[in-house]
Amino acid sequence: MGRITFDGCVFDTGPTLITMPFVLEHFFQSVGALLQDYVTLERVDPACQYRWSDGSQFDLPFDANDACDAIERFSRGEGASVRQYLDDAREIYELTKDVFIFSPFDGFREFFKKKNLHMLPKLHRLRFTKTLHDVHSSMFRDPRVVQLFDRFATYNGSSPYLAPATLMVIPWVEIGLGAWYVRGGIYSIAEAITKIALERGVRIHLHQGVSSITVERGRASGVVLDDDTSIRADHVISNADVFTTRKHLLGLDIADPNDLSCSGLVLLMSTERADLGLAHHNVLFSDDYPGEFETILHGNRPRRDSTIYISRSAHVDETQAPSDRENWFVLINAPPRGVNVSQDPTSTSAWRGHSEAQAQLVIDRMADFGIRPSIRHMEIRTPDLMASQWSSHKGALYGSSSNSMFSAFLRPRQRSSDVKNLWYVGGSAHPGGGVPLVATSGMIAAELLLSTLSE
Ligand SMILES: Cc1cc2nc3c(=O)[nH]c(=O)nc-3n(C[C@H](O)[C@H](O)[C@H](O)COP(=O)(O)OP(=O)(O)OC[C@H]3O[C@@H](n4cnc5c(N)ncnc54)[C@H](O)[C@@H]3O)c2cc1C
Repeated sequence: MGRITFDGCVFDTGPTLITMPFVLEHFFQSVGALLQDYVTLERVDPACQYRWSDGSQFDLPFDANDACDAIERFSRGEGASVRQYLDDAREIYELTKDVFIFSPFDGFREFFKKKNLHMLPKLHRLRFTKTLHDVHSSMFRDPRVVQLFDRFATYNGSSPYLAPATLMVIPWVEIGLGAWYVRGGIYSIAEAITKIALERGVRIHLHQGVSSITVERGRASGVVLDDDTSIRADHVISNADVFTTRKHLLGLDIADPNDLSCSGLVLLMSTERADLGLAHHNVLFSDDYPGEFETILHGNRPRRDSTIYISRSAHVDETQAPSDRENWFVLINAPPRGVNVSQDPTSTSAWRGHSEAQAQLVIDRMADFGIRPSIRHMEIRTPDLMASQWSSHKGALYGSSSNSMFSAFLRPRQRSSDVKNLWYVGGSAHPGGGVPLVATSGMIAAELLLSTLSE
């Protein structure tokens, strides 16, 4: 989460939508606090407005039942299919949540643990041998409905044409369990957690980079800061990308991961307030979705025909912009920085350098949909910037992708396998990216760490 302000407008630089708020509620309760005393969660309704270049438009209601009715009105016959799909997706969520999300993960062994044996006869219901797109195109007739559901694969940086259909849990979480906004911007959650930590005596060292993790006799013994200060510690929990932690903070000689999740190009724009018929969250779909993922996975050049996500929180929150302006957060998915360097060294500069040209492609594409904001000021955030600012490897938004049925099994776990008392948390560790999973990741690490103290 991050926040920047310019031209009187406030922008979240990371997450713009919160799902599974009960995870945050649980976290606050676990430290003796109430979430509602610190932040105000608001339903996002419609959860999202979707548009296609043929002029069709669909506003997805907050409530799952209303969503099915609205889909039926949008595309006759699809309401019942979506209802069935959400039932199936809920079943997958219920079957998997305690194994793949809310507990430490032990790989294939999980399936043979007594508490999980009930899953074995239902393994086929998890649909991990099919891709998300396979399931969507077999359940829905309308290609727009297929595309709408396919897009949920990008929530963890994956491709619907490769990711296992087990990821149906993602649309279930947003449509079935709801989409939320935090008054004052999503960054208010980070501020709330900071406040709770300080109230409980935690010391936070801001603007201090960790340059290495020290290890003595196979055990993490502390960290060294950029200014060479050493801090000794009984345990080290790294919230940096796991690959970055291992390669740069531990100095291990490890190979680059080759299955990175996608990155993004973000345009933050202050605009003149105008009624363009947009909602808080909006998606303008590409006409060639397979082609777009080809570009993200293997392409070298930015494309005009990208799927564009626009969030404008000032639509619902007057604290985010003066009354005559709006705060637009515009995102397209992009290849992680440098992923294609070896394939075509001449053209990577298109993603690396000319960010203004890329931004113009996005602005031109918005105009194809009749969306021509009057831009006052714009800041461009590239994959390189995300890599350097957050130390995420190559700007990948979620560590490894879930582009294989084995991804969940390969994701690094909380407990380091080679250095004692070192723990990994965050989007590149189990259970994955996105605010609720990252928070869960931290809580799992805390539980495991505390359990070692009583050993
Ligand atoms: C543009 C964008 C939009 C997103 N939208 C959503 C959304 O709508 N909803 C959602 O749930 N998720 C969303 N996500 C995903 C979500 O933001 C991430 O999954 C989550 O932030 C990952 O949390 P993290 O703690 O693992 O990593 P980060 O949030 O990246 O935190 C890691 C922190 O560690 C710091 N750090 C790294 N290395 C060092 C070091 N050596 N020394 C000191 N500090 C260091 C970094 O600077 C950073 O502040 C989005 C992500 C992006 C980038």
